[in-house]
Amino acid sequence: MLLTATKDPQHLSVRPSTMPLTTPKNLSADVLKFCNSLGSVHSPTFVKVLPNPNAQVNECFFNVKSAVHEIGGKQIFGWCIWIWEGVYIEAEHHSVWYDGINLIDVTPKPQNEDNVLFVQDDLAVFDFNGVKRKNNLRRSLTNDPKVAEYLSLHDQAYSLMEKYSTGRQASIPADLVRPLAYRTEALLLHIRGKYLGPNNLCTCGSGVKVKKCCGIEKAKTLNS
Ligand SMILES: [Zn+2]
Repeated sequence: MLLTATKDPQHLSVRPSTMPLTTPKNLSADVLKFCNSLGSVHSPTFVKVLPNPNAQVNECFFNVKSAVHEIGGKQIFGWCIWIWEGVYIEAEHHSVWYDGINLIDVTPKPQNEDNVLFVQDDLAVFDFNGVKRKNNLRRSLTNDPKVAEYLSLHDQAYSLMEKYSTGRQASIPADLVRPLAYRTEALLLHIRGKYLGPNNLCTCGSGVKVKKCCGIEKAKTLNS
């Protein structure tokens, strides 16, 4: 299902593992243009992922807060950049830890990436009291209207989540969620069917290429 009762970033949308989003390999023109559009004064930088032992997937804001509480350093806010080459690019509201010398991503990654592309944004603070995160920003890298619609449905899901959430819980009326979930699922299958290639990350979330994992036909239809 699309939306669940727990308000964590991945559940605002279809889990990224169902789309082969990865850390951009380099700062291509598309990547730079997108990063600049975020409006931060900081440039994108690759940050090492060194998960803290107690850190949880998807809980970056709280993971970094704990790291600062336990070891010191500073909490840094911004955006983590994910890309599916030729399909779309996404900025996920994110937080990393500054140890006094380097930025370090202390949050484990579902697909075990060992580095992420991060854009520091001092205005993109997380509201710990209201547990309000910022909407992920997404841009299509194709003129396919179905990709555009798919991305816009995530904004609708985010709006619903914000409207019906209290603290870390959200309960959204089923009659609002269901049509959105079905349409998103249909578009998800269409987009994967059209763009998924053997060298993309597998949609089962293994972190391995499709051709070395589930195989292209299965990977196109795996359920979210
Ligand atoms: Zn697989």
